[in-house]
Amino acid sequence: MTAIDPRDELICLRAGDMPGSGVEPVLPPVVQASLFRHGTTRELLAGLANEQTHTVYSRGTNPTVRALETSLAALEGAQDCRCFGSGMAAIAATLFALTKTGDHILFVNDIYGPTLQLAGELARFGVTHSQVFTTDLAEIESALTPATRLIYMESPGTMRFELLPLAAIAALAQARGILTAIDNTVATPLLQKPLALGIDISLHSCTKYIGGHSDVVGGAVMSSSDLMDAIFRRGYMLLGGIQAPWHAFLLLRGLMTLPARLRQHQSDALAVAQALARHKRVMRVHHPALDPASANLFAAQMSGHSGLFSIEIDAKDFDAVCDIVDRLRLFGRAVSWGGVESLAIPGGRGDGSNPRLPFNLVRLSVGLEGAAPLLADIEQALA
Ligand code: PLP
Repeated sequence: MTAIDPRDELICLRAGDMPGSGVEPVLPPVVQASLFRHGTTRELLAGLANEQTHTVYSRGTNPTVRALETSLAALEGAQDCRCFGSGMAAIAATLFALTKTGDHILFVNDIYGPTLQLAGELARFGVTHSQVFTTDLAEIESALTPATRLIYMESPGTMRFELLPLAAIAALAQARGILTAIDNTVATPLLQKPLALGIDISLHSCTKYIGGHSDVVGGAVMSSSDLMDAIFRRGYMLLGGIQAPWHAFLLLRGLMTLPARLRQHQSDALAVAQALARHKRVMRVHHPALDPASANLFAAQMSGHSGLFSIEIDAKDFDAVCDIVDRLRLFGRAVSWGGVESLAIPGGRGDGSNPRLPFNLVRLSVGLEGAAPLLADIEQALA
């Protein structure tokens, strides 16, 4: 089912290529320098006047990080990309750069918790926000206010994997002069191209599938040159949450195998999810490719799904859910996802604080151990 564009495969395999540099290493050198010498004072001053294109200081532009940014921008079909020290740094720089006192941000559907906490902090600077839980365009429209500057989305979401009608939301926002941003982490730049659907800004936690080996934290923002210019000047350089060159190297190495890993993650996760949908103790499977309600959107805006999905278990209470998760042997109990190792975590905390996350919801990140042993592991835990 995963239809990864062959051109994207090549971008990944050649991530970090240095054409025209006179040397052709298969991986870019890690330029572990904080500053760069210039031949003349005038060259230095010209560089300082435009750190976006000149390599002057690594809080601005670093060649190794730039190699990653160039590959990610090409994959996402963006005019430019900037990479950050974490997904949260990317999100923070974007919200900081693009909003001002009096602006309102509308969050649609489930959003990564710290992103909402950050929006709460922006209230101290006069930026308000609200959240609407719907996939219905008219309801999203009625949640807009005259002050709405940005619609911020996650699709698929990270716990229930609901899809939003991205092209329709982008058109609605464009007609009103409102910016749109999506956290595209779950889909990766290979399986969903939000900018081609009219969304203005795509954000990623590179910590997940792009890195792919649970050994690096990173983030990225992709958009038009104009918006990236604002994000670079106001959010990237001033907040300083930059990507370290060594981490950019690890992410480039991850990018090279992203298509191959995603194909395996997807086919194994789909096989496990389909089998679990028939299991007597699994009441519901949340997987965008298996949800009839999102079939049209899935076909229209995604070319596949990753190894992430969730299940609702037939269990009497949260303790029973934790006991089942504790019985898993191949799945580790951990946060995050996107690595080669399979992981499981309850969606909620068992305190009913989030009605969208029932006590019996468990998220599974299917790694690369193979569908059959992973399914057997879940079956023994449910027995
Ligand atoms: N967005 C999503 C959907 C996430 O799941 C996460 C982390 O789990 C983030 C953003 C934040 O990324 P990072 O942990 O790299 O700061």
